Amino acid sequence: MTKPLNVIELDCSACDKKYDPSIEQHLCTCGKPLLARYDLRRAAATLALESLKTRLRTLWRYAEVLPNDAPVSLGEGMTALIHVGRLGASMGLQRLYVKDEGLNPTGSFKARGMTTAVSRAKQLGARVLAAPTAGNAGGALAAYAAAAGLPAVIVMPADTPAANVMECQAFGAQVVKLNGLISDCGKYVAEHKDREGWYDVSTLKEPYRVEGKKTMGYELWEQFGGKLPDVILYPTGGGVGLIGMCKAFDEMQEMGWIGTDRPRMVVVQAQGCAPIVRAWEAHQNSAAFFQNAATIASGLRVPGPLGDVLILNMLRQTKGKALTVTDEEMLQAGRELAALEGVFAAPEGAATVIATRKLAASGWLQPEETVVLFNTGTGYKYTEVWQRALQ
Ligand SMILES: *Cc1c(COP(=O)(O)O)cnc(C)c1O
Ligand SMILES: [Zn+2]
Repeated sequence: MTKPLNVIELDCSACDKKYDPSIEQHLCTCGKPLLARYDLRRAAATLALESLKTRLRTLWRYAEVLPNDAPVSLGEGMTALIHVGRLGASMGLQRLYVKDEGLNPTGSFKARGMTTAVSRAKQLGARVLAAPTAGNAGGALAAYAAAAGLPAVIVMPADTPAANVMECQAFGAQVVKLNGLISDCGKYVAEHKDREGWYDVSTLKEPYRVEGKKTMGYELWEQFGGKLPDVILYPTGGGVGLIGMCKAFDEMQEMGWIGTDRPRMVVVQAQGCAPIVRAWEAHQNSAAFFQNAATIASGLRVPGPLGDVLILNMLRQTKGKALTVTDEEMLQAGRELAALEGVFAAPEGAATVIATRKLAASGWLQPEETVVLFNTGTGYKYTEVWQRALQ
């Protein structure tokens, strides 16, 4: 270690165990994810709206609240926040925004998590990076591994969109295709990693992907001029972005930037894979495995999310909501967003459009509220899906 790490410790998200961040860490012995803790008083001394103005236009601008390794960066973060006036008006909403994460390297917000996870893994001496993926995480890991000069193994369902397979191959990663879901791919990585010497970069199984994804929360605050929106809609697979943004809001409160108010967080899932919505509707604290998961929104095909307890907690704390949409609705909404606003979304992002329409119609969203929906990926990577829908 050359300089002291910004991260002062890793805390279990479920029990009170703490871990040393200066060595490789994955899950807590209780099986739950670890979260990075910083000296936020020290961070707040230099990190402020004013000081951000002159910084790098990547997510590494929030350096004080990120692991301070030499960044393996491809220009991720600081994506556009677009006021979608016509779409909003069609639902009676005056302040509807799209945070367009499709503009990230490799076309999805998975780049955010991978820049921090791969930077830290490299610093810790990882030799081979491995992860299961529903699609975009694999592409992002393969790209950042290439940028880091490290080999990667990507394990994906055989029916993952072609663009995801091709990008992984182009980035020089080893691609393993399995007949199954991301949960089966996760098992494969878990079973092989010790023997093969792989560093497991699975969602929430190392502490730093959340750190990259939390910068979406910091960016919203910065892009709204030091304020947060009233409502955030998020297409939820593993829920890393939700967990990350809420962590960011807690850090901001500790730094004195915001009070106790939080945006109401909305989980949007596909009808064919909705473990969190099911648990939410049944007033449960954890989610059961969702059998026979199927949806065109590959990023939402996560039947057993590891962060279920954290996500459900966050929904209660922020007075949020969880709802499903159908694949048909996603495709229709995606065409609407593209034609009305010029944003070509992944089906996952399109899911938040129809969810917003439903919540506006029911009165859960008020006309003057500031509402942000996350387009988590570009539509350009889903050619099979859009080809069918646009014929
Ligand atoms: C991975 C992914 C999601 C789900 O993200 P989580 O933070 O794991 O819930 C949503 N949309 C797209 C396009 C994705 O690639
Ligand atoms: Zn624990």
